Amino acid sequence: MTTSTSPTSSSSPLAERLEAVRGGIADAARAAGRRPEELTTIVVTKFHPASLVRELAALGVEDVGENRHQEAQEKAAELADLGLRWHFVGQLQSKKARQVRRYARVIHSLDRSSLVDALASDEGVVDGFVQLNLTDDPARGGVSDRDLDALVERVLETQGLRLLGVMAVAPLDEEPARAFERVRRASDRVRALAPEATAISAGMSQDYREAIAAGATHLRIGTAITGNRPTLR
Ligand SMILES: *Cc1c(COP(=O)(O)O)cnc(C)c1O
Repeated sequence: MTTSTSPTSSSSPLAERLEAVRGGIADAARAAGRRPEELTTIVVTKFHPASLVRELAALGVEDVGENRHQEAQEKAAELADLGLRWHFVGQLQSKKARQVRRYARVIHSLDRSSLVDALASDEGVVDGFVQLNLTDDPARGGVSDRDLDALVERVLETQGLRLLGVMAVAPLDEEPARAFERVRRASDRVRALAPEATAISAGMSQDYREAIAAGATHLRIGTAITGNRPTLR
């Protein structure tokens, strides 16, 4: 017997986890009567070194997510040769907004009008999601249900921003399926104002199956693919 050519036999733990999650996503999509190709998987690489992002790119990953500006900016610069799409998924200070525009293709955390205003630009277009706060705690980030329509209108009026849809993180103390049902309803509301804003950014390592069942189009998956994050530097 010659050495096996099966892709898993020689692959790294990272490649195996990526394969496992891709398989889980495809299964969940089919179970929901959806096509896996409709889904964009963003690998959230926060706290991990640029070298891990490079390995992911070699495994075919094209979309990566970060939640802190300085770290994201450094990695995007160091890995500029890879042609990755950088997604900013964390809370964003208005004073950093213009800098994030320079490397991020998509900003998932539009949560207040002052941030939207700070992102206005007549040079190119960045895609954005309006982030919903599914909790009663304003510190969690995201717009409240009450302020959603006004924020959507603000994004639609703003030059240099294109609204893709809604984004949310399921609260820890609620069943994900219930939380994502609320996201789906919010998405319907947004579509009434912006028919083209059909995307839903929802679903992380622990709840991507429920998110897919509820209509998520953009999954943000970290640890299930990357392994545990290194502890805070
Ligand atoms: C870290 C993070 C994720 C990924 O979380 P995992 O549980 O590691 O999959 C997704 N979305 C946001 C906003 C995050 O900050």
